[in-house]
Amino acid sequence: MGDLHNLSVKALASLLQSKEVSAVEVATRFLARTGGNPHHAFLDIDSEATLVQARASDAKLAKGNAGPLEGVPIAHKDVFVTRDFATTAGSKILKDYRSPFDATVVSRLRTAGMVTLGKLNCDEFAMGSANENSAYGAVTNPCDTSRIPGGSSGGSAAAVAARLTPAATGTDTGGSIRQPASFCGITGIKPTYGRASRYGMIAYASSLDQAGPLARSAEDCALLLSAMCGPDLDRDSTSLDVPVENFSATLGEPLQGLRIGIPKEFFGEGLAVDVRTTIDAALQTLKAQGAKLVPITLPRTELAIPVYYIIAPAEASSNLSRFDGVKFGHRTKNYTDLVSMYKKSRAEGFGEEVKRRIMTGAYVLSHGYYDAYYLQAQKIRRMIADDFQRAFEECDVIAGPVAPTVAWKLGNNASDPLADYLADIFTLPASLAGLPCMSVPVGMGESNMPVGIQLIGNYLQEARLLNVAHQFQLVTDFHNAKPEGV
Ligand code: GLN
Repeated sequence: MGDLHNLSVKALASLLQSKEVSAVEVATRFLARTGGNPHHAFLDIDSEATLVQARASDAKLAKGNAGPLEGVPIAHKDVFVTRDFATTAGSKILKDYRSPFDATVVSRLRTAGMVTLGKLNCDEFAMGSANENSAYGAVTNPCDTSRIPGGSSGGSAAAVAARLTPAATGTDTGGSIRQPASFCGITGIKPTYGRASRYGMIAYASSLDQAGPLARSAEDCALLLSAMCGPDLDRDSTSLDVPVENFSATLGEPLQGLRIGIPKEFFGEGLAVDVRTTIDAALQTLKAQGAKLVPITLPRTELAIPVYYIIAPAEASSNLSRFDGVKFGHRTKNYTDLVSMYKKSRAEGFGEEVKRRIMTGAYVLSHGYYDAYYLQAQKIRRMIADDFQRAFEECDVIAGPVAPTVAWKLGNNASDPLADYLADIFTLPASLAGLPCMSVPVGMGESNMPVGIQLIGNYLQEARLLNVAHQFQLVTDFHNAKPEGV
């Protein structure tokens, strides 16, 4: 039992079901590992709250009415509201905020038996690509602590990579599950928009926000995704009315004959040589497993950046208007009237990047600019989605890099937000189209930093993506690589 923290979700679940280990023992082991908050991955840890859940899980295991993942620990990105832990969304404006209810994703995972270890650091309101926009400080990458873990689910990826938790939730609006998973050498999936309920997920850009799991393998992601997805029609109007799938059931399919589309726009200028070489090698492995590589085109890839950075801030400017110092969150101490109270509370509570996006969003929505920016962006968004549908006539899944480079050094882009935006180029198109997509570790690039391959599927094809990743992980060992010192 010495290396409990190295076990997969699947292995832990089976040890718990057979009562070789108790939920309290498992929770205690992981809580010990979070002591001192390595990598600054957590924003809230409360051992007693975790142990209360673990004891309840042990009682269920004893009674024989346990869930499939009973007693397996998980930690949640701090944009999921939780009753047992504070929820800040990485923002000062929500410092010490306690939700009176759990997000649907959180309660579904608890119903499946999972025990919450705490809340994970992230970019403020999930806006960022490096986790450096957290009001509570940056997260370090377990593979090299002088580098960023990626973002915005940086705490989630770092905690899984450092074996502080076997699994974590994340959210992905424009890449925030895939990119940190890629940068930390773990596996993560964003399902089809609407698969997972957004109820209780603090909104950034509602037409793009989607929850998903981060873990070490596709096999574990399949277990987690089955537990967290499902219709929630009364509480999320964009929730899809499709039955919950057992994503583990289809993990045995050989890749023989699978057509993998390779978009030429994902392999052009700007893609670092080390990333390209690593991705190419992975594609050769998939080919050796029977897949066919088909050249395809996604001609509007570059436009995804301006389109996303118009639509997402526009939605954010509206979503974040609720943080006004009245209903919840930070309220300024010095004000003279209502308007000055709003203004000062927001000025004090929001960080620089959040303010930048609120202002950009208000601008592109304002009279006189709406047609030129917002409306135009919506039209191109539709064209990007159509390009994918054309591509899927020729292939079953699409593969390419997650990010143009490996994780960069902390502070590198601190004074240049545009540099972070540009690095989102490969993750934004699938987000704008609402397609399921994932990141799978495929080796090491420059400075021995992890590289992830991105797999994109057509709507509701998560099972296929997970199977491709699983088949790859059956013949490779990159997903088991441990950061030095872990
Ligand atoms: N990096 C992108 C942004 O800053 C994506 C963030 C996300 O997916 N939450 O908006």
